Amino acid sequence: MLRLTEIKLPLHHQDEMAELKAIILAKLAITEGDLHHFTVFKRGIDARKKSDIQLIYTLDLDVANEQQLLQQFAKDPHVSPSPDTRYKFVAQAPATLTERPVVVGLGPCGLFAGLLLAQMGFKPIILERGKAVRERTKDTFGFWRGQELNTESNVQYGEGGAGTFSDGKLYSQIKDPKHYGRKVLTEFVTAGAPEEIMYVSKPHIGTFKLVSMVEKMRANIIALGGEIRFSSRVDHIHIEDKQLTGITLNNGERLNCRHLVLAVGHSARDTFQMLYDAGVYIEAKPFSVGFRIEHEQSMIDSCRWGPNAGNPILGAADYKLVHHCKNGRTVYSFCMCPGGTVVAAASETGGVVTNGMSQYSRHERNANSAIVVGIHPEQDYPGHPLAGIELQRKLEQAAFHLGGADYHAPAQLIGDFLKGSSSADLGAVQPSYTPGIKLTDLSALLPDYATAAIREAIPAFEKQIRGFAKADGLLTAVETRTSSPICIKRGADLQSLNVKGLYPAGEGAGYAGGILSAAIDGIRVAEALALQMLQQP
Ligand code: FAD
Repeated sequence: MLRLTEIKLPLHHQDEMAELKAIILAKLAITEGDLHHFTVFKRGIDARKKSDIQLIYTLDLDVANEQQLLQQFAKDPHVSPSPDTRYKFVAQAPATLTERPVVVGLGPCGLFAGLLLAQMGFKPIILERGKAVRERTKDTFGFWRGQELNTESNVQYGEGGAGTFSDGKLYSQIKDPKHYGRKVLTEFVTAGAPEEIMYVSKPHIGTFKLVSMVEKMRANIIALGGEIRFSSRVDHIHIEDKQLTGITLNNGERLNCRHLVLAVGHSARDTFQMLYDAGVYIEAKPFSVGFRIEHEQSMIDSCRWGPNAGNPILGAADYKLVHHCKNGRTVYSFCMCPGGTVVAAASETGGVVTNGMSQYSRHERNANSAIVVGIHPEQDYPGHPLAGIELQRKLEQAAFHLGGADYHAPAQLIGDFLKGSSSADLGAVQPSYTPGIKLTDLSALLPDYATAAIREAIPAFEKQIRGFAKADGLLTAVETRTSSPICIKRGADLQSLNVKGLYPAGEGAGYAGGILSAAIDGIRVAEALALQMLQQP
């Protein structure tokens, strides 16, 4: 296969594939008969000139005389052989293998670790503290409608993990030399995701599609000999001579196991405490805190897309913002959800946490993102590996009380926050958070340095997105679960530094941030575990 990069089409074109074909034939000076087939590998958007937005393609071609063309275009950086991005399994379990690996957590990391182990014949046992995704959906949406919080079945816990009720953004900035991301996207498409996630530059799925995809992947794992148990929380791990020997579940059952993927996400605070108490080596790590910000999506669209706002190829616009503050802090936008809603993401009683989600269509009225300040253990929560968790909890409980102690979230208009006065009435931006918000003053909620940094950053962001600092935009608190506050250190073999057989993985262990990177880490860990298991006598 031959790869062409930087192929451009104007946003306003008639027939995408026919026009691309004409460009290929002209560029390579070949006839239609020589071009057997071509596919779009990636499609990006260049919106630097809003009146002339371009689509930028990477194409893979099946052509006659490929070697000859490669020689002919040897000096053209945009013509090259296509890399082989197909996934190749690193191991196959022998039929005689009796030991089964255990995977704890069925978020993207555990799902892919489990799937890969099942595909390699290892018949994993997967344990998930929450419920199967349909039951979990009822509990989560019930909480959003004002019912009680179920601390074991919510936005953070249950089949599909934290990303199930999300925007389903599927991109990451991690290096991926082995193309594991393609494996993840291919499995998602097999499970029902739209084909376009394979080639658009910023793919997203939206929450409803994710629910049915997760179910299909579960069925696949079971068909391959895997076992999945819901409402099965790992409450203890057993270690002998620095080797994992087993676990005990919440129902008291002990499972012996010597190979375990620990993919528990960033919210499993009780599990982190249990691991710490059992002697597993853990370090505190940086994370970020702040607010969710909401604007009208139409404002973001016209700022990003200009006269092309509303074009279906472009969809609802996103943004990514960073500001380095005078006090040395960095404020940035995170987990931006175009055309989405702010969601209640608590998993502990008496705490309020915000996050964002959207449907595939991204048709809701508001845009939202987290506007957060980076914080660091040495400076902001020194002294104990789990001190970041205590800080998160303190902020979430403070938000709970500021919101009226009934899971309403405290909120403030941007203009009032910048001036330092309490909000009393909403403006044009209507809050999307349910069960509801309480207008108040957020100035004292975060540490002073964080409030000062966000106050400086919002007007700076106005320079990039006109209207960003508009007085009636809305801030909802509190954003604390941007990433894990700890890192469960692992060595080059991906096992815990001081417990053999324990593979800390995904976001909770500090090795991923987002659905795609968590899934990729699940693949990496499954491979390492499989190879290690096959070396055992
Ligand atoms: P998780 O998804 O957190 O999964 C961990 C699982 O382990 C959970 O299901 C939990 O119940 C289970 N578990 C915990 N403790 C135990 C135990 N002791 N025993 C058994 N099971 C246990 N990322 C994106 O890339 N794009 C997005 O659009 C996006 N939107 C988001 C929206 C929301 C509302 C939220 C909350 C997150 C969003 N994220 C998004 C982040 C993304 O969901 C996470 O980065 C990702 O899910 C991390 O995957 P993980 O498998 O490491 O952990």
